[in-house]
Amino acid sequence: MDKLTVRDVPVRGKRVLVRVDFNVPLDKERGAVTDDTRIKESLPTIRYLMDNGARVVLMSHLGRPDGKVVGSLRMGGVAKRLSELLGKPVRTVADCIGPEVEKAVGQLQAGEVVLLENIRFHAEEEKNDAAFSQALARLGDVFVNDAFGTTHRAHASTVGVTRYLPSVAGLLVEKELKALGQALEEPARPFAALVGGAKISDKMGVVGNILKKLDLLLIGGGMAATFLKVKGLEVGGSLVEVDRIVWAEKMMREAEESRVRLLLPVDFVVSEKPDGSAPSQTVRANAIPARSLVVDIGPETVKSFSAELRKCKTVLWNGPMGIFEVPGFASGTRAMAELLAGLNATTIVGGGSTAEAVVNMGLKDRMTHVSTGGGASLTFLEGETLPGVAALQDKK
Ligand code: ADP
Ligand code: MG
Repeated sequence: MDKLTVRDVPVRGKRVLVRVDFNVPLDKERGAVTDDTRIKESLPTIRYLMDNGARVVLMSHLGRPDGKVVGSLRMGGVAKRLSELLGKPVRTVADCIGPEVEKAVGQLQAGEVVLLENIRFHAEEEKNDAAFSQALARLGDVFVNDAFGTTHRAHASTVGVTRYLPSVAGLLVEKELKALGQALEEPARPFAALVGGAKISDKMGVVGNILKKLDLLLIGGGMAATFLKVKGLEVGGSLVEVDRIVWAEKMMREAEESRVRLLLPVDFVVSEKPDGSAPSQTVRANAIPARSLVVDIGPETVKSFSAELRKCKTVLWNGPMGIFEVPGFASGTRAMAELLAGLNATTIVGGGSTAEAVVNMGLKDRMTHVSTGGGASLTFLEGETLPGVAALQDKK
């Protein structure tokens, strides 16, 4: 990685302002953190700073308060969980800028941690406002961005603040960029991408960017319907948009020209309802009933995809194979997750829902890398610049 990291700058005795991604789900009634994955991912950087005598000032957004103070989106519950994980007290303050906050930060001792109040209580955050960025910058001597999941956004706490402070990457950002970068730049071969999910517009960018580097492209999820349509098959009520068909056609042509093998599902689980409220059945890809939607890949597809993936040395996975949130339609996604977990290969999982599926199945630790940044990981895989990374200082 060509950016300076927290290891490259002196931090002892310094006020280090760290952008973390503590946008975690909360229990509506008690305000307690229900999934602390993102907090845990930030611990290496926080511990590094504490161990090296920094005065640690953490800031994050939480939910979508849209520029107003929303009581249920205060950081108290997050601070409590972080404190449990660190085994040290974590201070909180009533705001994220202003004289009171500056005073509290000024009183921090080396190795102590304060968590600022939700930065999206100020509309200026998402507007990347200069005065607000400057107010944040007054709380640190050095800025560290460790919120990989928000690096695709140019906000005050990710980009604005870098204009006023020396700015470096945290250890999570470093880990994410290394893992995703290596997969794209020097993949062990065969290199396969397993793509599914619903948001075809996201996947179009990813597939377009990586196609020529692949040996194999496997397509499942809602996206598969578009490709079947190109082959002239009926897809019932599955969502297919016209411009996407043109794109899928182009991908099929490019795959052929670049000698990338493209595999589509040979069977599907279909149902008349996407929510599990109607019966489902398994059908061949060329026999999808007119009123049905594709809701998962079928068992024959799982077999053929598995046989191909077992030969691969690098697998990039983005997009669930079916509507995995419905227990009856989760088999394909679970089978692929389990297969990847067992492979002796580099396995990279990107995308918010795909990561969620892998975490829920308890398989996260058996993948090489599960990206914490849904949108950010996709932006990176699309070959686009991440503004929050671009704004950090380059290694000389
Ligand atoms: P990611 O967040 O991993 O990038 P997407 O956002 O593109 O993935 O898609 C995730 C969603 O895709 C999930 O909510 C899942 O239910 C949905 N999905 C998967 N397969 C299908 C399908 N066949 N039809 C409709 N939705 C699907
Ligand atoms: Mg998504």
